[in-house]
Amino acid sequence: MKKFAVFGNPIAHSVSPTIHQMFAKSCGEDIGYEKILVPLDSFAEALESFFSDPQAVGCNVTVPFKQQAFEIAIDNSSAAKAAQAVNTLSKDSHGKIHGYNTDGMGLVRDLIAHDTDIKGKRILLIGAGGAARGAVMPLIEQFPAAIAVFNRTKEKAIEMVDSLSHELLTVVDKTAVNDFAADIVINSTSASLSNALPEGVTPELFAGCELAYDMAYGKQRTTFMEYAEQHGARQQLDGLGMLVEQAAAAFTIWTAKSPDTAPVIQYLRVKA
Ligand code: NDP
Repeated sequence: MKKFAVFGNPIAHSVSPTIHQMFAKSCGEDIGYEKILVPLDSFAEALESFFSDPQAVGCNVTVPFKQQAFEIAIDNSSAAKAAQAVNTLSKDSHGKIHGYNTDGMGLVRDLIAHDTDIKGKRILLIGAGGAARGAVMPLIEQFPAAIAVFNRTKEKAIEMVDSLSHELLTVVDKTAVNDFAADIVINSTSASLSNALPEGVTPELFAGCELAYDMAYGKQRTTFMEYAEQHGARQQLDGLGMLVEQAAAAFTIWTAKSPDTAPVIQYLRVKA
């Protein structure tokens, strides 16, 4: 049996085992997938112990170990390099551990699944943390007209945009953000985790907005989604689809099989 796991702290809330077992069943794979709660100072040791099992094939990595996973991997995909973070590790036949970041691909696949045409669109990306970093290059690959990054701490947005260095990518501050006229507004901040609206968000951001996307997800629509709808965004989506799509991309890296994501999203929407 191929063995997989998700490493994080905290980890109890993770639905990754459910997602990957559903994928495995639909693809005819027999897998084990466990949640591993890792003490904050023991990620490298926990990883080594997991991969020492000959049946261990790969793992997911979540908060707060994504940057450490990037450093541990023998090499990293271009998306992982852009994000400077890894959410998926895979062991090859020589026992070497390779790093990937599938979060941005998950976002793009979910947008496409909702018939969102990214090409030629003006995208406002709120936040400049790990999730934002992972999203930028996969979004750019879909040929938007422009991506503006708006972050509570402007210096972090500048640092991110400078390091990714692309002509479509700029920073906007609170004096300019209302004039950006975004078609798509993406909330990549962690504000929704405390039921808050990201600082600096104003009604003007949603005036001509066709989609407000919140990377966070939960049982209820987020504060950001409610606010966006109230102020004119025509469609609002949460990040559940992104979660399942990034998992599907990881599953493909490990097994070379592409699971159907729609039934899993539907199941989690109702049950989780
Ligand atoms: P980080 O901790 O790396 O970054 C957090 C970001 O949120 C920073 O830009 C921070 O700004 C900003 N922020 C936090 N609180 C506020 C606030 N009250 N107002 C404005 N900005 C705020 O987190 P991640 O990037 O890893 O994750 C961000 C979100 O994305 C989380 O909700 C996470 O659940 C979600 N996510 C979803 C995924 C999915 O598959 N659906 C995958 C990965 C992440 P500052 O720099 O000023 O501190």
